[in-house]
Amino acid sequence: MIATDSSISSQTCQSILQEVFGYAQFRGPQQAIVEQVANGADALVLMPTGGGKSLCYQIPAIARQRAGHGVALVVSPLIALMHDQVGALHEAGVDAAFLNSTLSSEEAHQIEQRLLRGEITLLYAAPERVTNLRFLALLDSLFERGLLSLFAIDEAHCVSQWGHDFRPEYRGLTVLHERFPGVPRMALTATADALTRADILERLQLEDAQQFVSSFDRPNIRYTIVEKREAVQQLQRFIEREHEGDAGIVYCQSRKRVEDVAETLAQAGVYALPYHAGLDSRMRQDHQNRFLREEGVVMVATIAFGMGIDKPDVRFVAHLDMPKNIEGYYQETGRAGRDGLPAYAWMAYGLQDVVNQRRMIDESPAGEEFKQVMRGKLDALLGLAESTDCRRTRLLAYFGEQLGSSPQYRCGNCDNCLNPPEVWDGTDAARKLLSTIYRIQQSSGMSFGAGQVMDIVRGKTTEKVTQHGHAALSTFGVGANFSEIQLRGVLRQLIAMGAVAVDSQAFNTLQLTEQSRAVLKGDMQVLLRESVSAPASRKPKRTGAGSAAIKAPIALDGEGLVRYAALKAWRAEVAKEHNLPAYVIFHDATLAAVAKRAPQTLDDLQGISGMGVKKLEAYAQAVLRVVGLK
Ligand code: ADP
Ligand code: ZN
Repeated sequence: MIATDSSISSQTCQSILQEVFGYAQFRGPQQAIVEQVANGADALVLMPTGGGKSLCYQIPAIARQRAGHGVALVVSPLIALMHDQVGALHEAGVDAAFLNSTLSSEEAHQIEQRLLRGEITLLYAAPERVTNLRFLALLDSLFERGLLSLFAIDEAHCVSQWGHDFRPEYRGLTVLHERFPGVPRMALTATADALTRADILERLQLEDAQQFVSSFDRPNIRYTIVEKREAVQQLQRFIEREHEGDAGIVYCQSRKRVEDVAETLAQAGVYALPYHAGLDSRMRQDHQNRFLREEGVVMVATIAFGMGIDKPDVRFVAHLDMPKNIEGYYQETGRAGRDGLPAYAWMAYGLQDVVNQRRMIDESPAGEEFKQVMRGKLDALLGLAESTDCRRTRLLAYFGEQLGSSPQYRCGNCDNCLNPPEVWDGTDAARKLLSTIYRIQQSSGMSFGAGQVMDIVRGKTTEKVTQHGHAALSTFGVGANFSEIQLRGVLRQLIAMGAVAVDSQAFNTLQLTEQSRAVLKGDMQVLLRESVSAPASRKPKRTGAGSAAIKAPIALDGEGLVRYAALKAWRAEVAKEHNLPAYVIFHDATLAAVAKRAPQTLDDLQGISGMGVKKLEAYAQAVLRVVGLK
């Protein structure tokens, strides 16, 4: 639906981008989205995290408000983040507000009055508020006055049970469409699998909306998946080697694990804080604030953390336990490097992860059909973890996108491209493992777990082997030439392939399945990556004042670094005064560009990315003063 009453030109949108946000160019499909929505079209926007979704509704909102259409309502699931989102807009000179339970009734009343006068450009609210009657009555009044310019539904995958953050309140949002016909609506998400996408369109009744699908590639993120041994020590080495003093997120499966890992890291001198739904809300909020407002915090968290966090300088996201599916993995890793600077996605993955995830699906109370879908999604993630080819190519293929000219494309920025793994044929080992499982079952009618099966194959006369007479099995010692690590790898892949089942009701014992036969008959090959030990430290460890050494996002000479450090110190003060995260004032990249240019006059500051008109007005003098200090 294109409203013809308000033709907003391409130039208007472009000049808002420059003037308000200080950016010279739209990215990817932003321009098309902004122009269409500004002129009244409905849209579904699928863009990876960090792709730049916010501008897709903020610019149309500004353009439409200037044209007299009133306020854009942004539906956002996270009350805790609204303060900073609105603060960032204020810094850019945009009149924005939120309505949520943290406001007094007096404050809320004032915002309502300003809304009715058409003064506010963007209003943030959570879905449960949007669908309550009192709020709908406010929208009625705005609608009658022609002051509802746009509905932007952020994190729209929350409407779908196939997404990973299902929120039933999102289902109620169809009221917007029914009650306020003609107001343009857009749904935005970073989740792109076909099932979730179809669900969003149907649930939000956006079937006629224009769909804008961006490339999901995040070229600045380096994907690495390592074999899990002592995961926490591996992580600790990874942080020491690559990310000393950097902000990062570490995802763990359980609350208990979050607390243990946070403590271990803290003892090793990492500024690590725990976050999970079991902590009381004050502590959660405090840790989140410290992550956003201070430098170099490593948040150790369950997946309860991260949605809506738009901190641009998260330098790594680590998974100590495997997530449930590729959508979750991609969304979580996507929180690294939103500023476009180099960032890392690191995951440790092992046999236990496969077993745990399969068990969680098996034991969930969901229906069989649902479980089937979940198993399929898990398998795709296992395939990624076991793959010996380009991780990025696989990830994007999962989202239906082909990178480069062929499926064998190599990105050059993932572990498999940078250090192509040796591949060995594990088919023989696999058959020995499978026949052992079969013989144990045959001889005693009992099943055993992975440890016992591997001991038998390797011919180890442990107490348990002797006790059950397993040394007498014909397969005893047939795989003495394989290491335990190799066999574990084979077993992991057999489980991942579904050629071995783990019975979680019976001490995780191993069972054969339909697919076992194909491997036993030699119809199916089992190819594995050769286990490689962790590469030796690449970076010299910083010494002395090292951990406090300033790392700039672009190359700066000595004086440039001094300017950069001074600018960061100044920014920290301003941010504190305004009670906002530092990156809301200026991004690191903006400060680094200033430090490099060494501006003397106001003119010298023009054209630096991230310097909008309002920010120049507010901060140019201070920036010049800080940079001028010798
Ligand atoms: P998303 O919501 O899609 O995860 P954001 O809207 O937070 O992404 O944008 C990610 C980062 O990219 C932000 O820091 C934003 O300021 C920046 N950005 C977005 N669009 C542009 C652009 N056209 N030019 C430069 N930077 C941009
Ligand atoms: Zn690659």
